[in-house]
Amino acid sequence: MTTLELTDEEWRQRLTAEQYRVCRLGGTEAPFSGQYAANKQPGVYHCSCCGKTLFDAAHKFDSGTGWPSFWQTAVASSVAMHRDTSHGMSRIEVRCSDCGAHLGHVFPDGPPPTGQRYCINSVALRFEPAVSSTATAGTASSDRELDTSGLNCPLPILKAKRELLSMAAGETLHVIATDPGALADFRAFAEQTGHELLLCEAREQTFHVVLRKV
Ligand code: FE
Repeated sequence: MTTLELTDEEWRQRLTAEQYRVCRLGGTEAPFSGQYAANKQPGVYHCSCCGKTLFDAAHKFDSGTGWPSFWQTAVASSVAMHRDTSHGMSRIEVRCSDCGAHLGHVFPDGPPPTGQRYCINSVALRFEPAVSSTATAGTASSDRELDTSGLNCPLPILKAKRELLSMAAGETLHVIATDPGALADFRAFAEQTGHELLLCEAREQTFHVVLRKV
């Protein structure tokens, strides 16, 4: 069951050729070719198709396979499993639970404590580094800042809303958008969800919204 469904043509337009081949056609990138196989930075990995949070760098390990490897998902509901009997093998395919993107496979030869190895294509992921303390120093009114204008993400506003829904009570998020419609959009969102709207204004070329989960 997926919550984001686009036509094949819409995916083709939205994604790079390699993302489309791997994520929508079930392909595999060449080992050691992806940008995240050796990445050891703290942060989270999102679905490159829909922005859903899939894996946390805290669960990444060096499997030596040439693909990013994790011993568990960010949360259990991040991914959906499917039996894959292609290429004469019996494997468990891992897909994004929101958009159905093919991510990779999971094998029972991972490290403790789970013993699982989620072997994931870099091209199916988009890494978001953990926010450093210097980056948040200028946003005293907010715990975190999400600059959707600079995000390399196909659905930045949707991503911001997901973040808002998953926040703990009392936590605030500062969303920066380039779309003027974002102000009305987030005002309506706050009314629907009960988030407290602390700031909703245009500044120069960008639009700023700060919401607090109550
Ligand atoms: Fe997805």
